[in-house]
Amino acid sequence: MSDTSSLDALIQALRRLPGIGQKSAQRMAFHLLQHDRAGAQLLSQALAQASSHVRHCVRCHTFTEGELCEVCQDPGRDTARLCVVETPADQAAMERTGAFKGLYFVLMGRLSPLDGVGPRDIGVQELLERAGDGVVQEVILATSFTAEGEATAHALAEALKRRGVRVTRLARGVPVGSELEYVDLGTIAHALADRR
Ligand SMILES: [Zn+2]
Repeated sequence: MSDTSSLDALIQALRRLPGIGQKSAQRMAFHLLQHDRAGAQLLSQALAQASSHVRHCVRCHTFTEGELCEVCQDPGRDTARLCVVETPADQAAMERTGAFKGLYFVLMGRLSPLDGVGPRDIGVQELLERAGDGVVQEVILATSFTAEGEATAHALAEALKRRGVRVTRLARGVPVGSELEYVDLGTIAHALADRR
């Protein structure tokens, strides 16, 4: 065993992060070990803690540490409106607008046949069951305005309409090609108000 195997293991582990190649991983590892040992400890503890405690909310699939997330537990939410978003980050963006008081269904992805992401991976069946529970009156599709986000919204809309569920989509105004997470709050709030 070479005396740098721990370092190599760290670099290989960092490379698992999206968008991180060999050079970036090396830079991060050197930084942590050379300049920020306390940060390295903090990072490893936070990773261990989160990876063993964070799970998916049984109702909306977002990240949570309990059975149900805070939003699903909140008795003040409008249970008749269900907003479908791709990621917990998109849900957080929606929440920051303060314009939506309903509940969510978080797909944890979007349909992407080329990457092998199909209906089962984004919980389409669970969404259909949820939307058809008799409580939900409107499903608002707030997937991204990217090609895959649009295709996902289209597929979901068709499936929901076949079951007689009222479906709306965030209005344009959200720039084409954009991830909801990065859109400014005023634009999201308008797109929500103008949904159709
Ligand atoms: Zn939830």
